[in-house]
Amino acid sequence: MSELIPVRTLDPSNNDLASVDTPVVDATRHNEAVRLVKGHYQRLRRWLSGPLILLFLIAPWLEINGAPLLWMNLEDHTLHLFGLQFWPDDLLMLTWLALASAFALFIAANLAGRIWCGFSCPQTVWSMMFMWVEDRFLGSRNKRLKEAKLPWRQRNLKGLFMTHLLWWSMAFVTGFTFVAYFETGQGLAQNIISGDISIAVTFWLIFFSALTYINAGWLREQVCMHMCPYARFQSVMVDRDTLKVGYDIDRGEPRSSKVKNKPSSKTSGDCIDCRLCVQVCPVGIDIRQGLQYSCIDCGACIDACDNIMDSINKPKGLIRFMPDSGQSHQVRSRLRLVGYSLALFVSIILFALQVLSKESFETSVNRERGQLYFYSGLNIANGYTFSLQNKLNQDVQANIEVLQPSDLTIKMNQPISVSAGEKRDFPFTLLCQQPCALDRKTNIDLKININGETFSLDNHFFNPDH
Ligand code: SF4
Ligand code: SF4
Repeated sequence: MSELIPVRTLDPSNNDLASVDTPVVDATRHNEAVRLVKGHYQRLRRWLSGPLILLFLIAPWLEINGAPLLWMNLEDHTLHLFGLQFWPDDLLMLTWLALASAFALFIAANLAGRIWCGFSCPQTVWSMMFMWVEDRFLGSRNKRLKEAKLPWRQRNLKGLFMTHLLWWSMAFVTGFTFVAYFETGQGLAQNIISGDISIAVTFWLIFFSALTYINAGWLREQVCMHMCPYARFQSVMVDRDTLKVGYDIDRGEPRSSKVKNKPSSKTSGDCIDCRLCVQVCPVGIDIRQGLQYSCIDCGACIDACDNIMDSINKPKGLIRFMPDSGQSHQVRSRLRLVGYSLALFVSIILFALQVLSKESFETSVNRERGQLYFYSGLNIANGYTFSLQNKLNQDVQANIEVLQPSDLTIKMNQPISVSAGEKRDFPFTLLCQQPCALDRKTNIDLKININGETFSLDNHFFNPDH
């Protein structure tokens, strides 16, 4: 082993040691009253999460190729995704898409730690929206903390009512949208308005609404710390050059009380120990104690500290995104990043190739079972079944011709017509007039014409008289 794990000696007399992020075995809330902060990273989160929230909300309503942007149609066993329709036998194609998404997430984690968690994860984004509501109706952090000590009748009951009313409203919209991915937005809205709503749909509406209310309103960081599986394994994707939110210990220590314009010296660092970085932290940790597994890299502490540095005329960046390997980013050989990028590239290419070669129809011709041939008047007849699965969002018509041999004629009892998304079987007969000159077993070539597209299928014809 050539590399040593860097260690730091902590002073047990330091009260802040209590907030060091040791593995938590209980579910104690670390920061029940998060202070909201303004700044660069809060704006960035809004810019990143805003379009994603909008897409989440409109996806079951906005139609493309006759179906919503996202619709998991359980009845037909199909998935509609941005105008493409996937069937159960397209599972491999979707696997490439899922792999591409996973590798994109791994790349983000390798470049900048848990930025997905901090900036785009629905759990964080919804929690932040719920925090904004409580800040708006119940007041600032200090006010909320003070009020929490008062008896119930002296609290801001109107604010509490408004907060929970809005939380439930947002939770219902979220629950509705989740269920609409299975029912379509329009279909679900019509069912609710007309009262024609099944017990199962009612259950899932209540379930998803309650889950959102509890997760974003009450559990918040507990989900990230104790329930999220991604949080458990994302640390294996980082390396020494991964950017993580960190505290510049050399610049900040030793901490000193707030003195405006005080120049940094060997006896006093830039940190004025205002603890704003702790108060704004949604997971309630003190980033000054070093890298901690529960940090979701949301950047709130960076914004809080930058605001403080501005106010005391010190350069920003006492807390910032930095690599574990040093104060400044070093270019190293990042084999893991190269590997993830290659895997992402391959997954996208394979997905694209499969989508481009995706067929709109599944066709097959099978012989009727249990009867090689039969006689139909003066003809020798063989029975077949033509199966057509229509993977389009529109009805289609088809016809069958015999290309080879020319001695055969085709007899169908009904026109071939298949509705959008359906699969149907059509029995037909091939006839050879006696005396039939064909061999005992003759290869046949069939041409299928479906909505202008032609397919070739083959099979056999049995002639018992040869
Ligand atoms: S330590 Fe900073 S970046 Fe990490 S979760 Fe807390 S506020 Fe967000
Ligand atoms: S916000 Fe900055 S100055 Fe204040 S305690 Fe945190 S690191 Fe120190």
